[in-house]
Amino acid sequence: MLGAIVGDVVGSVYEWNNIKTKDFPLFRDDCFFTDDTVMTCAVAEAIMNGGQKDDFIDAMKKYGRMYPNADYGARFNRWLMTDNREPYNSFGNGSAMRVSPCAWVMEATTGELPSEGKRLAQLSSEVTHNHPEGVKGAMATADAIFMCRYFFDRNDNPAEIKRRVKEHIEKEYGYDLSKTLDEIRPTYRFNETCQDTVPQAIVAFLESTDFEDAIRNAISLGGDSDTLAAITGSIAEAAYGIPEWIQDKAYSYLDEPLKDVLRRWEETVVIK
Ligand SMILES: [Mg+2]
Repeated sequence: MLGAIVGDVVGSVYEWNNIKTKDFPLFRDDCFFTDDTVMTCAVAEAIMNGGQKDDFIDAMKKYGRMYPNADYGARFNRWLMTDNREPYNSFGNGSAMRVSPCAWVMEATTGELPSEGKRLAQLSSEVTHNHPEGVKGAMATADAIFMCRYFFDRNDNPAEIKRRVKEHIEKEYGYDLSKTLDEIRPTYRFNETCQDTVPQAIVAFLESTDFEDAIRNAISLGGDSDTLAAITGSIAEAAYGIPEWIQDKAYSYLDEPLKDVLRRWEETVVIK
């Protein structure tokens, strides 16, 4: 889940000022955490509180209200700030940017996300993003994370692992992952939907050589930069791990309550 936070922080300054290059300072002084970080922490908190439907709703509303200016989408913001506990059929990319903790709570003993992981990923989406495309975006992201956790630990041929991930995601979710970053980049614009963020984020991972390179790939596409990089970062973390200096730097942008979620999560839940 820290991979998602790195992507969010790095991308925060490019969401409204897209750059179409990989050549930029990874962390700028004016970077900050946004909704992607807050909701990823909320999902982790929900799992630590029991992982039931009400836990997800309660944690999202709690952290959403703690950070009311984290730049939520308009409909999600309304859901957060009112007493409404019903989903609103969203297919926004928020379901995919916040799902990563769900793919880290079980040991990776096969390449397939266990049923408990699937249940958590689906629930983390469905409490608001219950449109089929919203759920699909979360499930595809969780699957990619889990496959990377399993295969990068056991196979030293990254190209072969990425081929399997690509094949699985295309077959299972029907995303088209055939375009390269160079083909996507020229016409890619801001887009808040799952179906036009998750495939691009996965390609940014597939073309990467290491964690930092994956984040740079995602930013270079433009679009909804922080969310795109959060999704890519969450997958890249599972494949490559995160260099220590990047972990430390990302932490430095967080405040105490968010750091506390991360610490409790690392100590009590996450299975490496
Ligand atoms: Mg954001």
